Amino acid sequence: MECSRVKKCEVADCAYNASEICHAIAVTIGDSSNPKCDTYCLSAVQGGDIECMANVGACKVAACKFNMSLECQADEICVGYKENEPDCLTFQLS
Ligand code: SF4
Ligand code: SF4
Repeated sequence: MECSRVKKCEVADCAYNASEICHAIAVTIGDSSNPKCDTYCLSAVQGGDIECMANVGACKVAACKFNMSLECQADEICVGYKENEPDCLTFQLS
């Protein structure tokens, strides 16, 4: 099973974000019904590794058409604010 990459993230206030790239090693997306980025973090510390582009480590949104066994099978995802919440914008109901 290939990891999905976080191609772009527009959540500029997250500690892992620099220039619309997520530098966490991996992010966790969602709960049972909501595709929010669980790794989102407000901090004065710059998070992650600036050399690294994040993968999706796990996704708990089983209802998404890209979800298989609670893992993301999209080649890449984009993350951004939706109704004031940092969400996976690639989410689509299956
Ligand atoms: S994908 Fe999540 S953890 Fe990464 S920068 Fe965006 S909001 Fe932060
Ligand atoms: S595209 Fe779907 S399966 Fe992949 S991270 Fe987003 S919500 Fe989860």
